Amino acid sequence: MSSTHFSMTINGQAINGTETFAVENPATGKAFANAPDCTRAELDAAVAAGRAAFPGWKATPIAKRRELLNAMAGVIMQNLPELSRLLTQEQGKPHPDAEGDVGGGAFWLMESSKHEIPEHVSEDSAERHAVTRYGPIGVVAAIVPWNFPIILAAFKLGPALLAGNTVVLKPAPTTPLTTLRIGELLRGVLPDGVLNVISGSDRLGPWLTAHPGVDKVSFTGSTQTGKKVMESAAHSLKRVTLELGGNDPAIVMPDVDVEKVAEDLFWAAFRNTGQICIATKRMYIHEDVYEPLKAAFVAYAKTVKVGDGAEQGTQIGPIQNSAQYKRVLELIQDAKDNGYKFLIGGEASDVPGYFVPITILDNPPENARIVQEEQFGPVLPLLKFDNLDEVVGRANDSEYGLGASIWSSDIARAQEIATSLQAGTVWINESQHLSPHASFGGFKQSGIGVEGGQEGVLEFCQAQTVFTRKPQPAT
Ligand code: NAD
Repeated sequence: MSSTHFSMTINGQAINGTETFAVENPATGKAFANAPDCTRAELDAAVAAGRAAFPGWKATPIAKRRELLNAMAGVIMQNLPELSRLLTQEQGKPHPDAEGDVGGGAFWLMESSKHEIPEHVSEDSAERHAVTRYGPIGVVAAIVPWNFPIILAAFKLGPALLAGNTVVLKPAPTTPLTTLRIGELLRGVLPDGVLNVISGSDRLGPWLTAHPGVDKVSFTGSTQTGKKVMESAAHSLKRVTLELGGNDPAIVMPDVDVEKVAEDLFWAAFRNTGQICIATKRMYIHEDVYEPLKAAFVAYAKTVKVGDGAEQGTQIGPIQNSAQYKRVLELIQDAKDNGYKFLIGGEASDVPGYFVPITILDNPPENARIVQEEQFGPVLPLLKFDNLDEVVGRANDSEYGLGASIWSSDIARAQEIATSLQAGTVWINESQHLSPHASFGGFKQSGIGVEGGQEGVLEFCQAQTVFTRKPQPAT
């Protein structure tokens, strides 16, 4: 049953909030529900609940914590239709993609439950035993953006809870509802206070990162905000993991089968309306295949249905919110003002909602804003290259270093190119694949730390080394 009333979950209890804010459907631009606008007192209560629950959760055997992560996943899966409908309504993504976000979140929780937390014996001599163990840190603030509200929350929840931390989870102000609903559904699954879910307007994020009762901030969002988070965390030296923006290059080598790769390349850039940190945002195509690939790409783009994510058959939804919509339109206007050539798109849509048509630019200059900046929308520059060293230089010439992809039929060569790319993840002949068992993070200003894999779990742990001097025989 769908609802228009949503409450926060603090210490296992429903908190309706003394203040609220409106949540819009980006396909219409109209508000359809309200969410609680967490006050300072309510935030204090959420952090206090996390602190109170921490000793008990830390002492809970890891086998039990694994079991409860799986139970959380089970509850989410049982409610998949309702949750994914709600996600489409607030986020805008097509219904099958919303199912992927929610179902992917459940999958991530289940897979995270399988991680081992290591123990490392560095010395076991006649004199001494030395062991390093990894324990939880305390209360984790998990801050999530609006592009993949559920799976990105699960990236944090799974490892943080497995390691024995408690969590205060905050979704983005434009997509709070599905996360709040999951908080409601999970009441009683975890001990009270282990997972607190709060929502708020723009004031809440800074309050949360500055809160003295928070021990660690796990943040996913823009590089600009990531810097503010780090600054705020510095006051009490909170631990931080920052998963930030990207301007991922794809390098398309001359030996690709143009017809085969065109569709995959299209979705590398346009899935989720281009609003993916690891979307291809600059596509470098070798001059030998530039013209045929351009033609195949544009022909495919014309077959793709853009519309309300709730309508059957929609493949690309609206931009998620008005601020991002304006930013994407501004980048398009800049390309027009500079006389760059549009292959498709570029016109503003006159229907209600935050729709931007699929827009593809033909070889704009390297210093164009659309090449240098993270567009985070359905606008892609195709760029021509003729020399491998030159294109690797162009790919690396960015303050970002999140992901990159190489498309070639020569796998060995592509693997060699991968080693020269400054990116936390490199894909060969695919894009955007992530695994709960592999680390994911950014070089340069794309982030600090990683999520995923055992390294991701250790980001939610602190190391403690115990040296034990062994009794020595009398001499
Ligand atoms: P954003 O930085 O504006 O907001 C992200 C979250 O931070 C939201 O919950 C927001 O309320 C909160 N926030 C805003 N200001 C804050 C502050 N001063 N202190 C604490 N929290 C604050 O980002 P966005 O526009 O929601 O998301 C898009 C960005 O996220 C893009 O740059 C994208 O590349 C990036 N992203 C990165 C990853 C990754 O894993 N590296 C994944 C998805 C998105």
